[in-house]
Amino acid sequence: MTDPALQDPSTNPAYDNHEQVVRFVLDKEKNIVAYIAVHNTVLGPALGGCRIKKYASEEDALYDVLRLSRGMTYKNAMAGLPLGGGKAVIIADPQAEKTPELMQKFGACVESLSGSYVTAEDSGTTEEDMENIRKSTKHVTGLRPDYLKEHGYDNLGGNPSPLTALGCFEGVKAAVRQRYGRDELTGLKAAIQGVGAVGLSLAGMLQEAGVELFIADINEMNIAKAKEELDSVTVVRPDEIYDADVDLFVPCALGGVLNDETIARMQVDIIAGPANNQLATPEHDEKLAAQNIMYVPDYVINAGGVICVGYEYFMTSGFNPYDFDLTEESMEEHVRTIGDAVEQILTYAKNKHINTGTAADSLAEEKFESEGANSRSRSTAA
Ligand code: NAD
Repeated sequence: MTDPALQDPSTNPAYDNHEQVVRFVLDKEKNIVAYIAVHNTVLGPALGGCRIKKYASEEDALYDVLRLSRGMTYKNAMAGLPLGGGKAVIIADPQAEKTPELMQKFGACVESLSGSYVTAEDSGTTEEDMENIRKSTKHVTGLRPDYLKEHGYDNLGGNPSPLTALGCFEGVKAAVRQRYGRDELTGLKAAIQGVGAVGLSLAGMLQEAGVELFIADINEMNIAKAKEELDSVTVVRPDEIYDADVDLFVPCALGGVLNDETIARMQVDIIAGPANNQLATPEHDEKLAAQNIMYVPDYVINAGGVICVGYEYFMTSGFNPYDFDLTEESMEEHVRTIGDAVEQILTYAKNKHINTGTAADSLAEEKFESEGANSRSRSTAA
């Protein structure tokens, strides 16, 4: 299935001395092609999701897989996982062209890399797809809890959102310690953009810690659920959440929300939340720093999800890299270390007079860099 038609990936602007980039033809008749990129395996097998998308061109798909796999190296390193960074893309319409057979074929591609790449869910793929991939390879994670139970794995697995929220909560506490020199959150005000799976869970933790909440969501049902579950909240219109008179802005919805227009409106001290790719461009954290806003890099604070799927993979692959058992408790303890990682980044940024995104990338590079491997510039993870 490997195809020699792969263009030289080193000419792609997102290339960063990737260890391995492979092009596979999944369906010749329908011209469905997949790319798997392994960025760096210094710390361990390269874990990263499989995205299915109808890209405008193969060049675009290659760009995405190179960029995203690199981001996963940084994310997994800062999450303290013994895992490297990789990613896969399948150039297809997930609604019209995805079939169980296609996913099983993709699984065979993953298998052909002998465990250097471990796949997981991403946009365009589901838990069900992971099950079909699992028919061809064990190098897959993010399986349904029932499936795991049926196959004798009953320690871990399941929806990572509550632990993603817990990691964010620890990250918020670390940022508050740095900014205000105190451990308590009582009396602070937070604006939460999006009260979906992670946002609502995080809102509950913040409220319990004494934070006054302002929430916004475009989905009325999620607002109603939040009002029911939380003691008292102020609901703000989605386009007004940036103007809320609060201490913390907590992005829990979309990417790209920190841009010229929104940053100019914000009066907050701290931005810390789970949404992926919050900065419209990497340069926007310079703008935040110039406005004296402490930005906690998204890929570090939202690592609870990847820690969950990482632990699940250690369990199902039979490769436990730790000298302790893989349990809910040990996984939760690991997620809580996100607070330490955030603290380390903020201190490093302060001491070196650099922005927090650059600080996170530098600290990640110290963890995974080996001679000749990969370059130094800004990363993006999804
Ligand atoms: P979700 O879909 O459950 O929740 C997102 C919420 O944001 C929804 O309620 C949606 O209606 C709302 N929303 C969308 N656009 C909005 C807007 N313009 N203004 C206000 N609200 C808006 O998703 P989730 O699982 O809670 O994830 C939230 C973010 O965190 C995403 O960016 C996701 O990629 C990221 N993330 C999630 C996890 C996880 O474990 N679920 C892990 C890492 C990162």
